[in-house]
Amino acid sequence: MSTKADLGDPGAADLTHVETWIFDLDETLYDRQSGVLSEMEGRIETYLMQQTGEDQPAVALLRENMRHQYGSTLAALLASGGADVEAYLAHVHDVPLDSLKPDLLLRAGLDRLPGRRLIHTNAPGFHAERVLEALGIADMFESVFHCAAADYVLKPHKEASDRMVAAYDLAPAVCAFFEDREANLAPAAALGMTAILVGDQAKTSTADFIRYRTPALAPFLLSARVRKEPIP
Ligand SMILES: [Mg+2]
Repeated sequence: MSTKADLGDPGAADLTHVETWIFDLDETLYDRQSGVLSEMEGRIETYLMQQTGEDQPAVALLRENMRHQYGSTLAALLASGGADVEAYLAHVHDVPLDSLKPDLLLRAGLDRLPGRRLIHTNAPGFHAERVLEALGIADMFESVFHCAAADYVLKPHKEASDRMVAAYDLAPAVCAFFEDREANLAPAAALGMTAILVGDQAKTSTADFIRYRTPALAPFLLSARVRKEPIP
């Protein structure tokens, strides 16, 4: 494949040190316009309305507090102890994925990356499988580190990144981590991974632990400078 980066484009990201490529799933591998995540957000609210008997505005506020205090609604439910987490996850992720189509550009971008490709998501494994199948890239990844695999320690908790590193015996200095949420990149960056912010937040983020920012993943992967020699 011929790209500008192959010709030494000085504007392209230098990822020639990277041997392991770690990707968040939702709104990193596909974009927000698909509506998948907003559909799930709606289902989180209906779940909380059923559980609490509160109306939508009250539940929206509750959720904002949960996310602020715990990082995610799932983390807050886990902390509360009483929730049926599997029922919650099944309810929230029971969404149509018709808007996700096989993404040939993304596939080509992933295909040129040397070394290991992994997913780290707070979502359950069954959701990751559906999304990767819909995008036509399920075969491009060695493994999905999902919420159950992390024993429900979730990003942006530092221990979530520590568990990922331990589970796959990773050397952070040669890992790149791609995420659409700035906060989720902080622990990975602190470990020494190269942090790359993808999507809408990339347009406004100023955090100094972010190494690269891009509104869209596929063009970034296609133009990045990557290692050409085989990884020993
Ligand atoms: Mg995401």
